[in-house]
Amino acid sequence: MEDTLAARWSAVQQQVTAAAFEAGRAPEDITTIVVTKFHPSSLVRELAQAGVQHVGENRHQEAVTKHAELEDVPLTWHFVGQLQSNKAKAVAHYCSVIHSVDRSSLIQSLAQVEKKLDVFLEVNLTDIPGRGGAEPGDILTLAETVLGTENLVLRGLMAVAPVGADPGRDFDRVVAMSAELRELAPEARDLSLGMSGDFVEAISRGATHLRIGSAITGKRPNST
Ligand SMILES: *Cc1c(COP(=O)(O)O)cnc(C)c1O
Repeated sequence: MEDTLAARWSAVQQQVTAAAFEAGRAPEDITTIVVTKFHPSSLVRELAQAGVQHVGENRHQEAVTKHAELEDVPLTWHFVGQLQSNKAKAVAHYCSVIHSVDRSSLIQSLAQVEKKLDVFLEVNLTDIPGRGGAEPGDILTLAETVLGTENLVLRGLMAVAPVGADPGRDFDRVVAMSAELRELAPEARDLSLGMSGDFVEAISRGATHLRIGSAITGKRPNST
């Protein structure tokens, strides 16, 4: 197959469908978000033309510029990166889903936004505190805070599998936390898990939202 953006998007869609059937799941229950950080808005426009409906960004400055250049393109924007509380309002202007909610100060800031937002609580699966994501032991308290906030809809949990470890085992930990969360919030059953290197494992563990970058966009410019 030709190695174009549209061909890579189509190949990933086929892999997602195959992995869903393999896991006995319906492909429609899985949303693929294409993470386009470091790539220009022209690439995002091309993705939309190829049928992509969901895009993800992890840096506000970059995302706000790209969104402004793409106001005419019908897309749902997801924020997946570490988010400073003082940027919450600005991010909510163009994003309707925030995957990286990990502390109460950020929830307080998002509560000030006059817009309904879907949120995922991000779990830090590493032992490194600065990594982004809440400590597993703090998730239920944060969930209670989100549940008490009128404009926020708690969708579930998000995590990034640590590099070099076994992603299946890490995803199993998140699945166990999700079961605990659902005792408190039965609707918060979504799982934002799976990137270019591990989305098949994520689908087998029940991922509902995949955040896939390089497998579709190709290598990121100006990044390591
Ligand atoms: C960049 C990024 C992704 C996508 O990573 P790839 O390995 O390129 O698929 C997913 N999630 C988050 C939070 C990211 O920052």
